[in-house]
Amino acid sequence: MGFLVSKRDPVIISGGGPVAMVLALALYREGVPFTMLEQLDEPFVDQRAASHHPPTISMLNELGLAEYMIAEGLKSPVYRFHDRVNHETIAEFDLGDLKDEVEFPYVLQYEQYKLVRKVIALFGHDPAFDVRFSHTVKNFEQFNDHILVNVQCSDGSIEKFRGSYLVGCDGGRSVVRKGAEINFVGFTYPEKFIKIGTYFDLTAHDNRIAIRNYFSHPDEWCNLFKVRGEPDKPDIWRFVVPMRVNETEEEAKSEQAMQARLKRFFERDQNYEIAYANVYTVSQRVADTFNKGRVLLAGDSAHVNNPIGGMGLNGGIHDAINLAKKLSAVWKGDSDPDLLNLYTRQRHKASTDFTQAQTIANKKQLEERDPIMRKKRLDEMRAISEDKEKAKAYMRRAQLIDSVATTAAIN
Ligand SMILES: Cc1cc2nc3c(=O)[nH]c(=O)nc-3n(C[C@H](O)[C@H](O)[C@H](O)COP(=O)(O)OP(=O)(O)OC[C@H]3O[C@@H](n4cnc5c(N)ncnc54)[C@H](O)[C@@H]3O)c2cc1C
Repeated sequence: MGFLVSKRDPVIISGGGPVAMVLALALYREGVPFTMLEQLDEPFVDQRAASHHPPTISMLNELGLAEYMIAEGLKSPVYRFHDRVNHETIAEFDLGDLKDEVEFPYVLQYEQYKLVRKVIALFGHDPAFDVRFSHTVKNFEQFNDHILVNVQCSDGSIEKFRGSYLVGCDGGRSVVRKGAEINFVGFTYPEKFIKIGTYFDLTAHDNRIAIRNYFSHPDEWCNLFKVRGEPDKPDIWRFVVPMRVNETEEEAKSEQAMQARLKRFFERDQNYEIAYANVYTVSQRVADTFNKGRVLLAGDSAHVNNPIGGMGLNGGIHDAINLAKKLSAVWKGDSDPDLLNLYTRQRHKASTDFTQAQTIANKKQLEERDPIMRKKRLDEMRAISEDKEKAKAYMRRAQLIDSVATTAAIN
């Protein structure tokens, strides 16, 4: 079918999470109208992502968001790998070593729900920044020159929204991806992950702890990160650890089990004060295509991965920025809609060759059970960190700097 774009029709965005907000803001800056439809009544206080890598901070800076995030977040130039078996720090990486290459030589810890809140606080008052809560995308029909989206409102009625394109920013279970019959290829890990946040200041307990840490252990690896939390409360340390394969959410979230998990890491007589705990099913999957007719995918609707390395949302923000430029050009009639195929080519490669490959490797690195392989992996990590050039190359990959540069060169 030929593609016509009517300037009357806005871009419809399904979902109101962080990727949707960044896409909306980028379209708004380009002067392209949009309507964002979020099923929840208000922004969700989602405690998943917090780590923003240097290229992502630069992109958000272009949109005018970074100054707020930096003021309210935590800069983390250094991260460390620890061997939990021998209680040894294996490697330290310092993003300050990349200060001549990147604008922001640190990872910024800023929770994803704050990003959503910030965009709404800054732009939500403008009627052109059209965000509608309590609107659930149910299905859609594609036509030669538009797309019709059926949306359930809070009173149960169905309203039709006419758009030029529909972008699924509606997460891993995306209704848009399923409606477009796009395969989501990959696998789900048998074990779930639990994240436990505590107010206890762990640096007071062990000064080897950096703001971002990875612990290798054959049974219970761990990601340990610090975030600011809410302004009137102390900072929060977040542990992300695997659950036993048959452990239920109820078991894992019992006070006793959570205290036992934290005390296995840092022995303490008193109980830890727990700020929150969440259980996650974790998958490695990438959609076959990120564009099909008038349907586009960005963020978790297009790709999901384990959180070791903090890459999922970063990749989603990279999608949103990449897509907004191309979609704006198409919407304005400055480019042929074929440009959207380039979006898939670039961002699909970024997902598979960088985010998927790196996060799968990160998990293997931390959970290795074979003692010989384990020692080999830890020795390799130590050797990389001790060689300045190898350490820089490692950080370029781990911080998605290579991902952005390599995929930008695809045409
Ligand atoms: C423990 C953990 C830690 C993580 N840490 C990091 C990190 O540090 N850095 C990082 O980069 N990534 C991290 N991630 C991944 C990150 O959380 C996700 O990649 C990110 O949330 C994806 O954002 P999104 O906007 O694409 O989707 P989501 O955040 O899932 O938002 C989707 C939105 O769509 C709405 N929605 C769904 N269906 C519909 C519908 N039919 N109609 C209307 N609205 C709908 C939902 O209500 C939701 O608001 C982590 C993940 C986990 C599990």
